[in-house]
Formats: sequence, C-alpha cells, structure tokens
Amino acid sequence: MFFNHQFAKNGVQELVKESLVSSRIFVSIFAISTFFGCATTAYKLPDMTYSEKARAQEQISNSPDRAERSVTMGEASAKLTRIYNTIASEARLTCRRQGERSIDDCNDWPIDIEDESIFNAYASGDNQITFFRQVFKVASDAEIAFILAHEIAHHSLDHINESRRNTAIGAIAGALVGAAVLGAIGDGCESSQTDCTADDDLMSDSMNIGASLGRLTYSRAQEAESDRFAITVLRNSGYQLNQARPLLLYMGNKGSGRVGSTFFDTHPSGPERVIHFDRLVSPYQP
Ligand SMILES: [Zn+2]
Repeated sequence: MFFNHQFAKNGVQELVKESLVSSRIFVSIFAISTFFGCATTAYKLPDMTYSEKARAQEQISNSPDRAERSVTMGEASAKLTRIYNTIASEARLTCRRQGERSIDDCNDWPIDIEDESIFNAYASGDNQITFFRQVFKVASDAEIAFILAHEIAHHSLDHINESRRNTAIGAIAGALVGAAVLGAIGDGCESSQTDCTADDDLMSDSMNIGASLGRLTYSRAQEAESDRFAITVLRNSGYQLNQARPLLLYMGNKGSGRVGSTFFDTHPSGPERVIHFDRLVSPYQP
C-alpha cells in the first residue's frame, strides 16, 4: 500500500490501549517486542538527524493543496496503461535482479482501478495491483509511475508472503509469551476450577498483539525498500525523479504531521520518507 494502513490507526492502537490496562498484558507486549527487536529486517531506513527531519517537515507543510482535475475511468485506465508500458520492462529486470520471485512471477502485474475518492493504491493476491480513481485527479504522470513501481515492488520483493509469515510468527511468539506469563503468575486456574476467562483473554490478546507486532515490525522497512525499488525503476525508465518527489510532500501534508514514526506506524513518517528518497536520488541529480 502506498499510504498508512488503516488498521494501524484503529486496530492495533485500540488493542494496545485496552491491553495496557492490564499489567500482565503489558509484560506480554514488552516480551513480544523484545522478541522482534532481536529479529533482523532485510532493509533499514538510514539514520536521520532531527534537524534534517525538521527541514523536510517544513517543505511538507509548505506543499500546496492540489486542485482536482476531472478524469473519467476510461481516461484513468488509458493513462495507467501508458505509464505501465513505460516502466514494465525495467520493472521486470529489477524484479528478476532481486531474486525474491521466480522469473515467471516477474512478468506481469494486472491492474484495476476502483472508482473511489481515496488517494491510494495497494498490492494484493497474485501480482494484482489496485489504484483508486482519486490518484488520477491529483497526481502527475511521474508520481503515478512512482506509485505503480512501488506497488510492483511489494510483489517483486515478496512482501505479501513475508508479512503473512511475520504475522504467523508473531502470533506464535505471542502465544508462547502469554503461556509463560500465566505460568509465572501461577494462579492455579486449572486445579481450582475457577473462572478461567481472564487467562483465555490474556492468551488471545497476546496472540493478537504478537501477530500485529510481527506485521508492523517489518512493514516500515518494506515500505522504504519498495520506495528504493521504485526509484531504480523510474530512473532506468527515463523519468525525472525530481518530478516524483512532490508526491511525498503532498502525502506528508495529508498525513499526521509527525516528524518521526512510532512503532505502530506501517509507513515511515512523511519527513523520513522524503529524506530517504532524497538520499537515494542525490547521486543521480545533475
Ligand atoms: Zn507500500
């Protein structure tokens, strides 16, 4: 997905907020977080100073709102097909170079456009990509190419399967931690035949928290890695990268306005994404 996943705002934060009421579950969160803290991610955002982030945030705040053009579904589809054709061969090469998917899986990415006023796109299923019509009302060709290459990257870098695995590993880790916490507390639920609902809740909350943390721990790294892939594809396809950059400022302005990202965000914060883009692009700027 190109922008923050909705569940990060609602699902996990609500879950954790409720869970923090219980100190036992707090112990679980801490233990599960530590588990993931030890795991390595394939790609990391570079270190950034606070003043760099503040400068990027200023550019984001000054990014103008955009007037919407009227675009029919037919026009949006024709434009997307044209842009797809300009980047497809470089996307195939970049996908194959990564070696995460088979050569056959690096051939083609079917695209749908949904008629919704949502500025976003997402990757799903088997190489499927979905755009929302709103994108074509406000974004330039280079920006649409960047979004498209970013979604192709999620498939090419096998992020959907990675997320599925991390979610499952997280749920297992959560269950183990929940069981360990219950064992440490030793409230004798089994022997005394008392109401075990609280223990069942702790186990199921631990699994849910573990699953969510498993997914989130890798998500920001995957988003940054997809941006890097998209930059490579656009550059080799002949796009001017500085024409894609305003997209990140525009989206940052639509976002939360925070300078740093928190553990529960699926995407890097606006300034982090802009700085990451600039660092990757700077060697190729005239
Ligand atoms: Zn994404």
